[in-house]
Amino acid sequence: MSDTLAGSLYVVATPIGNLDDLSPRAARVLGEVAVIAAEDTRHSGRLLRHLGLSRPMLSLHEHNEAARVDALDARLVAGEDIALVSDAGTPLISDPGFVLVRELRARGRRIVPVPGPCALVAALSAAGLPTDRFLFQGFLPAKGGARRGRLEALAAREETLVFYESPHRIRDTLADLATTLGARRVVLARELTKAFETFLDGSATELLARMEEDPDQARGEFVVMVAGAGPRGDADASTVAADALLSALLAEGLGVKQAAAVAARVLGGAKKAWYGRLQALKDGH
Ligand code: SAM
Repeated sequence: MSDTLAGSLYVVATPIGNLDDLSPRAARVLGEVAVIAAEDTRHSGRLLRHLGLSRPMLSLHEHNEAARVDALDARLVAGEDIALVSDAGTPLISDPGFVLVRELRARGRRIVPVPGPCALVAALSAAGLPTDRFLFQGFLPAKGGARRGRLEALAAREETLVFYESPHRIRDTLADLATTLGARRVVLARELTKAFETFLDGSATELLARMEEDPDQARGEFVVMVAGAGPRGDADASTVAADALLSALLAEGLGVKQAAAVAARVLGGAKKAWYGRLQALKDGH
């Protein structure tokens, strides 16, 4: 049960580039709370100034989050409302706030989401990859071995895979995607809602080649989306190419089982999924 006299923690999404994406509700909440807990007070201070607002702020980042819980809770119990913001997008999504929200919820406080921009949702909404099921993985490990290990562990997942990536590692990540997941379709959403917003679409190897030709394509912030394993992952886009490969394998005299093994290796995904598709092709469907 919530204590009705206590204040609320508002978890407020802020723009990921275009300041016009801040909702009127978010602006109102930010203007009314007693204090704003921000990942970086200087960064969020600029947003508040842009809105013509001035509220007390305190920092809340991964290194002090646990230590801040009691003091923030005491303010809620005293009836104050608090807003939580991160540098960009939705707090807790690859950003601080999880420990605070978990602890305050365990203490029965009222936690109110104020939804808005989120890079992964914006990227998925415009990528043209299946969105009925997706697997958000945040940032991949920084070290090559660990990164490839994580990708290998995801190789059989049929959901669209979604990652956040920085410009420092985007080329390494694409190279590792090519070696671990093969020639699947990758969509890169870069600089969403900003002046140089770009969507690149192709295999990881093709996207690397695009970055060689035009190094600007490797600058900025990225959401990396990868087709899930097996026939459903690529939906329509590579169906024709996949069917051409499968038909060629059958025409070369490979059995359905062997062809499924080759398809899984080249296109990624589970042999079982390719087996069904090959059987249908063989039967002329
Ligand atoms: N909480 C944020 C959200 O809701 O999206 C994500 C914060 S995370 C620390 C930052 C990462 O999100 C970036 O490295 C990038 O992968 C992604 N990102 C944030 N803004 C972006 C943008 N405008 N375009 C593309 N990716 C973005």
